[in-house]
Amino acid sequence: MEKISFKTDLFIGENALDRLKDYQNKKIFIVTDPFIVSSGMIETVTSRIEANNEFEIFSEIIPDPPIENVVAGISALNAFDGNLMLAIGGGSAIDAAKAMKFFGQKLGTVKAMPFVVIPTTSGTGSEVTNFSVITNQEKAMKYPLVTDAILPDEAILDATLVRSVPPAITADTGMDVLTHALEAYVSTKANDYSDALCEKVVMLVFEYLERAYRNGDDMEAREKMHNASCLAGMAFNITSLGLNHGIAHVAGAKFHIPHGRMNTLLLQHVIRYNAGITDFQSVPTNEAAKRYTALAKILGLPASNTRIGVRSLINEIKQLQKKLNMPTTLTECGVTKEVFTTEKHAIAVGALKDGCTATNPRVPKELEIEEILDT
Ligand code: NAD
Repeated sequence: MEKISFKTDLFIGENALDRLKDYQNKKIFIVTDPFIVSSGMIETVTSRIEANNEFEIFSEIIPDPPIENVVAGISALNAFDGNLMLAIGGGSAIDAAKAMKFFGQKLGTVKAMPFVVIPTTSGTGSEVTNFSVITNQEKAMKYPLVTDAILPDEAILDATLVRSVPPAITADTGMDVLTHALEAYVSTKANDYSDALCEKVVMLVFEYLERAYRNGDDMEAREKMHNASCLAGMAFNITSLGLNHGIAHVAGAKFHIPHGRMNTLLLQHVIRYNAGITDFQSVPTNEAAKRYTALAKILGLPASNTRIGVRSLINEIKQLQKKLNMPTTLTECGVTKEVFTTEKHAIAVGALKDGCTATNPRVPKELEIEEILDT
């Protein structure tokens, strides 16, 4: 038996932010990052709650939030004694708030309270997932915390908040969305429900990501990517992820590469590995190859057999990477050969232990991960 539930209520469309006006007589603890405050975006929230509520803004969250951010947030939350938590920002602010709530409650110092999130990037889908990724800076490791206890109660999706995301971050986060859908589609836990979500996401990304990258004011493209991000989150909340994320969590923390960019560097190589393809001479027969081929068909790409289908999908991804001016090698991201050689084995070991790797369609060996990293 499996259970699928979508806990988070979504408020979407024009004036979705006005949902905030419904909150009355609350003590609202707002978790965010410094950009959201310095850019004035925070006022989209405060202007709607200030008349009838008390609030405090905790804006120390940095990208790939470290444990220290979470610990400081728990102290601030305790001191304020809030009764509603609101996170506004990218995946980092949302994930940090999730961890504050979870560990604060576990310690018995933070009481249960409603949790509202407002994503300002179109990437992680964190607004609807039971994932929170926190970094241990000392060990240079990222740890996914996975528990339904951190699912937000409400998410407010307003694509106008994403308008200011610069092109490089639009590319990184948009490719993160694609990686979520591709991993969920071949996950050992995939089913008809997650498939439906992934198929829509893949179509949306290939149609709208480049547009959002080229023109951040293209609000149709922004809105479609915001939806794609959330739909992908709903999909991998059912299926979890795979080896791509397993490696990216470890390598991203070690090499200080933004999450979506790290995922993208790996994507074509992990697809090839999952499909069991080394040279594109033979026709692969495994389930993952069939699934990738199904996606190629949905995208209208040549896919008369699995060899052609997987190759078409990989080529399409590579073309998109090129159009988004994304790096294709670790060297382009500033990782030297020496650093790579020193870290390679530790990354493979860490990726094997990462929770996301457990639902990968192929069970990888340490050496195979090292080979993926070598390519
Ligand atoms: P982020 O939250 O780290 O933000 C990246 C940068 O974009 C920051 O400098 C931020 O200030 C800026 N930014 C945010 N909104 C902006 C806006 N509207 N305009 C301009 N700049 C803006 O990036 P992210 O990709 O959203 O989140 C990445 C984090 O999420 C990583 O730690 C990753 O591991 C995690 N993650 C979580 C999940 C999940 O399900 N919880 C899934 C995937 C990734």
